[in-house]
Amino acid sequence: MKPPADDGAAIPDAIRQSFAPALIAWQRHSGRHGLPWQATRDPYRVWLSEIMLQQTQVATVLAYYPRFLERFPDVRALAGAGEDEVMALWSGLGYYSRARNMHRCAQVVVREHGGRFPDRADDLATLPGIGASTAAAIAAFCHGQRVSIVDGNVRRVLSRLLAFDEDLAQTGPQKRLWALAQALLPVAPSHSDMQAYTQGLMDLGATVCTRSRPACEPCPVGQVCRARADGDPLRYPVKSRRLVRRHESWWLAVMLRGVGSQRQVWLQRRPAPGIWAGLQCVPVAASEAAARAVVPGGGTAVREMPAIAHALTHRELRLHPLLVELPMTGAAPAADGAWHALSGMGDMGLPAPVRQLLAALR
Ligand code: SF4
Repeated sequence: MKPPADDGAAIPDAIRQSFAPALIAWQRHSGRHGLPWQATRDPYRVWLSEIMLQQTQVATVLAYYPRFLERFPDVRALAGAGEDEVMALWSGLGYYSRARNMHRCAQVVVREHGGRFPDRADDLATLPGIGASTAAAIAAFCHGQRVSIVDGNVRRVLSRLLAFDEDLAQTGPQKRLWALAQALLPVAPSHSDMQAYTQGLMDLGATVCTRSRPACEPCPVGQVCRARADGDPLRYPVKSRRLVRRHESWWLAVMLRGVGSQRQVWLQRRPAPGIWAGLQCVPVAASEAAARAVVPGGGTAVREMPAIAHALTHRELRLHPLLVELPMTGAAPAADGAWHALSGMGDMGLPAPVRQLLAALR
């Protein structure tokens, strides 16, 4: 996918001339430095950080990134791993489709590109799980390609800077804003300029031009920002479709047997597509009666545990665990799956709340 054509004519001269130099200077002086993925131009490491940072805070990624790299130091190691192991290391980061796509992407890079990520953003964007903005970030950071990222943070910054009031829920305005982002890129940048510029866009959105409290006073581009001049930065970005979270209740059939090191739990793989797709999980049901029905003996001996609130992008889940102790020999649960040692949960890909629940039962 190629970036849209330069739309520089729509940008006031003062912004076009000062934005990139001001952002680069600010990033070098006041931006974020010392993050582990900033010290490399290795596309594998940059790609890994970019995928982890989608929808996840930097502080959380800092804990996962080194663990992941220690186990999978290069793309071949990741491509050759089993899916369960990848999911286990990802467990807790959420948005598990990222991990599945990442695993597939590593396999495509090894199989079709000889283990080397393509250099150009438009080639990178053909790989599984790499969107236009992630492809641009990898190409800019690793190869100094003059191409702009446009993730949610950047859309917010640029729509305020330019007082861009078109509806970003629509594809047309999204493309037009990306064309404007391309037009704002530094002129004839060095590799180091492109790194500082791209990191500066990320840093500005994350630390200065934040969603509900933009710090316009110290902002490095405040002098030319149109939303600031109009006195209404929070008007941007304009987006007609707001996220509505649906509330749902799920019942978890937590079936255990054995004692001590022999303690086991019944797990089944979650269907794909869907929530927690591909992860191992205790049986999930949409009603208490359905959850009890999978327990041998009709679930008369189950114990209700305190409910757990768990937020996903589009849903607020209320999880109701039903706990039951079963004999070592006896009828199998009326649900797909198998017994697994509770002590082996660390090596399995489990949804975070289920992992926490089972850890408390060991
Ligand atoms: Fe955002 Fe304010 Fe800076 Fe404009 S001046 S880019 S609204 S922080």
